[in-house]
Amino acid sequence: MKVIIIGAGPGGLTAALHLHRLGVEVSVHESVRPIKPLGVGINLLPHAVRELTILGLDPALAAASIATGELAYYNKTGSLIWREPRGRAAGYHWPQYSIHRGRLQMLLYDTAVERLGRGQVHPGHHLAGFEQDAAGVTARFTDRTTGEPVGEERGDVLIGADGIHSVVRRAFYPSEATPPFGGRILWRGITEGPPFLSGKTMIMAGHPDVKFVAYPICPDMAASGRALINWIAELQVGGGKAPIPRDWNRLADRAHFAPAFAGMKFDWLDAPALIAGAPEVYEFPLIDRDPVPRWTFDRVTLLGDAAHPMFPIGSNGASQAILDAAALADALAGNPDPLAALRTYEERRLAPTSQLVLNNRRHGPEIVMQLAEERAPQGFKNVSEVFAPGELADIAQKYKVAAGFDRDRLNALGQGPEPA
Ligand SMILES: Cc1cc2nc3c(=O)[nH]c(=O)nc-3n(C[C@H](O)[C@H](O)[C@H](O)COP(=O)(O)OP(=O)(O)OC[C@H]3O[C@@H](n4cnc5c(N)ncnc54)[C@H](O)[C@@H]3O)c2cc1C
Repeated sequence: MKVIIIGAGPGGLTAALHLHRLGVEVSVHESVRPIKPLGVGINLLPHAVRELTILGLDPALAAASIATGELAYYNKTGSLIWREPRGRAAGYHWPQYSIHRGRLQMLLYDTAVERLGRGQVHPGHHLAGFEQDAAGVTARFTDRTTGEPVGEERGDVLIGADGIHSVVRRAFYPSEATPPFGGRILWRGITEGPPFLSGKTMIMAGHPDVKFVAYPICPDMAASGRALINWIAELQVGGGKAPIPRDWNRLADRAHFAPAFAGMKFDWLDAPALIAGAPEVYEFPLIDRDPVPRWTFDRVTLLGDAAHPMFPIGSNGASQAILDAAALADALAGNPDPLAALRTYEERRLAPTSQLVLNNRRHGPEIVMQLAEERAPQGFKNVSEVFAPGELADIAQKYKVAAGFDRDRLNALGQGPEPA
């Protein structure tokens, strides 16, 4: 069995490492050359960390991340709505990590080059097209900067892990419409500052129309008594059509959103100072895609953002891509018939991730911020005035079940089988 992976993001690289571990021949093809540590912070939930731990990556991850200790939601005036421990502090066997996306990608990329061999990892290979027949699939690559052909590869299976603008997905859904713009834009940045709260807390303040998220991502900075704080400012801007393209690297002017967050200067966090202090700010429109009925078309399937781009809510973008990767590798290693294996993978992953896409449109676990705003727009003294007993815990737990990281069920899985 030979597997061709398109895309060296967290999803594609994790799939490559899991397949290699299970003894399956695999190559990775990535448009970009050289690979650069792009993006800002992301979170890896314990179920995704479990999969990376099986790959032996936990020591390197721990050295590159902050082990998130708690998650706390506040209303727009800084009153606490809900706080819960996360990762090991919550009794999981695996941590939750806050990490720079680029650092995670480089860690996975370097590991893939080391384990698969440099000859199996191909930066500068942009998938231009592919054809499949009864015996295999052929992928054709170009240099994205010149458009010149740079080669082709034949394999048994092709995995489209090529992100939100997936070429592989477009081949099967050529006229897929982009869902209507939800009217919200995310501005993202990283700022050095004093540590806040526990020094490993992820906070969200406001409500979905005016929301500020912050968490530290750099262990080296934490060791020196400072914090490198990843932040996201999200604002309802309205309009039926996204005013900006879906480009993760698009630089933004903070004058467009900073005034809306001027009031979020709390005694435990100064959001305006974080916004002002970031060397660069990036913007991204909040658009996902409708779930599709199929990812697998004979020898070709989709994974990660190519399969189920979702609103970045509940820390699930990278985590779900990593779960896809492990499920795909298990299916392919466990079945000599690649077509049947890809169907098994789809059966396991399509329904839960589709549900999550829809759940995140309804704000996922962040619905508590929306409810606090609706029920107490002037604020509250005590959260018990706003929520019924057990309501907040119930919302948090239901989302964990939906996203596959209910603690007891996850812990019961243990570390997973060792390769034969
Ligand atoms: C540059 C970049 C920055 C990001 N920054 C953030 C961030 O700050 N916060 C956040 O929450 N999420 C960010 N994301 C998205 C996040 O990485 C994903 O939501 C999540 O990790 C799932 O990963 P993935 O591997 O499925 O997709 P991605 O991370 O999008 O990876 C897809 C990969 O496929 C490559 N690719 C695309 N088309 C082709 C092609 N035709 N041929 C070959 N390769 C191709 C891309 O260059 C990319 O490396 C970013 C994505 C990218 C690409």
